[in-house]
Amino acid sequence: MGESILDAVPHERNFSFAKHTTYGCGGYAETACFPRTEEEACKVLAALDKSGKRYYILGAGSNVLAADGLYRGVVVCTSRVKYIKAGSAPYTVRAGCGVKVAELLAYCKKRGLTGAEFLAGIPATLGGLAFMNGGAGGRFMSDCVSSVRIFDGKIRELANKECNFTYKHSTMRDIKCMILSVLLTLECSTPAVVAKKISERLKARSALPRGKSCGCVFENYCGIGAGRIIENAGLKGVRAGKAYVSREHADFIINGGDRSADVFSLIKLVKSEVYKKFGITLKEEVCYIGDLDDSDG
Ligand SMILES: Cc1cc2nc3c(=O)[nH]c(=O)nc-3n(C[C@H](O)[C@H](O)[C@H](O)COP(=O)(O)OP(=O)(O)OC[C@H]3O[C@@H](n4cnc5c(N)ncnc54)[C@H](O)[C@@H]3O)c2cc1C
Repeated sequence: MGESILDAVPHERNFSFAKHTTYGCGGYAETACFPRTEEEACKVLAALDKSGKRYYILGAGSNVLAADGLYRGVVVCTSRVKYIKAGSAPYTVRAGCGVKVAELLAYCKKRGLTGAEFLAGIPATLGGLAFMNGGAGGRFMSDCVSSVRIFDGKIRELANKECNFTYKHSTMRDIKCMILSVLLTLECSTPAVVAKKISERLKARSALPRGKSCGCVFENYCGIGAGRIIENAGLKGVRAGKAYVSREHADFIINGGDRSADVFSLIKLVKSEVYKKFGITLKEEVCYIGDLDDSDG
């Protein structure tokens, strides 16, 4: 990568995945850079693509597990692409990919904009959520996204339909791209109503397991909750090293230590036990950084 670009954007050597992911484990990346604008992000990605250097786009790190070793590449952190502004159409909001759910909801609450409260409590960025089509309580990002601005060599605005959103999936997962920002369509309400809906959602989520995790590790299987399948396989509480399957919600694997290798061993164990018992192959929702099989980058 051209040194000039890395020099121009804030950057960090020996970037710790343990410090920047909700799993709180994983090794180091050689370099991380923190573009501050969409334009800067595009320049960084264009330079990385041109150089052929390996890179990984990281949002809030709430759905990733990084290998314990060295990641020989660049982490492109979206955390500083953080702006929220009114869109041109009424009740639309344009938000940078690094905006976190709590920040969006604070904005919506202040302006009495409703429609995104179902996201309350998810510790993610909007870029990460659009990528994964995340959601909760039966609603997904696709319900409030009008369009997504991406960079895949050039800047493109993909309308909702072009994103092909399905359960935990979007077109953006199939192509090599960075989500730069999202345009949300919301509705007019009052700050009090929005605040009430947010606190109801937070209350509904209060029973979720505590501890270092990525939320649900596996996707639901044919509409059946992966947690229920794992529980029925008798795997609640099962451990690998210091990682364990939560007793409150079996689709959560909690990292009680500091080794990604433990979490990864347990993911493999759960998959193989569920397959042995039910012939079901669970699919990971969690995204891997580096080669977990080597427990190295
Ligand atoms: C306690 C807890 C509770 C959770 N609850 C929920 C829930 O209720 N519902 C839900 O859907 N998820 C939930 N999650 C999982 C997680 O928050 C979501 O999967 C979310 O979409 C990840 O967003 P992120 O910004 O953290 O992305 P990251 O974890 O940083 O990245 C996830 C993937 O998205 C890619 N990515 C991130 N940003 C971009 C971008 N701008 N452009 C291109 N690719 C990008 C990354 O490369 C990676 O492949 C939970 C996680 C935790 C820890």
